[in-house]
Amino acid sequence: MHELSICRSISKIVEEHAVGRPVETVRLDVGYLRQVVPASLQYCWDIVVRDTELAGATMEIRHIPAIISCRICGEQTAIEVPVFRCIHCQSNETDVVSGNELFVTSLDLIGV
Ligand SMILES: [Zn+2]
Repeated sequence: MHELSICRSISKIVEEHAVGRPVETVRLDVGYLRQVVPASLQYCWDIVVRDTELAGATMEIRHIPAIISCRICGEQTAIEVPVFRCIHCQSNETDVVSGNELFVTSLDLIGV
């Protein structure tokens, strides 16, 4: 499962930064284009951290919309589906501005 491997890498990153200190909250930026199911991510997180020092740490997900920028007219379009077309001039010549994010933005450590 996609989400399970994501959670494994996240837990490694968190453990590296927490260096044994208890973690209360892990904050993540997840871009729309990652096609991650938030409920599934949360579920997998609980499985991955069970019986580890991260057990009980909650995950807070911030969703980053998918936005493309048009090379022809310069306008930006928020897209709901992965179709990279400018809604202003219908051009397909676009660059992705956001939506590919997937990273830990901050941790809350207990007692810090
Ligand atoms: Zn355009």
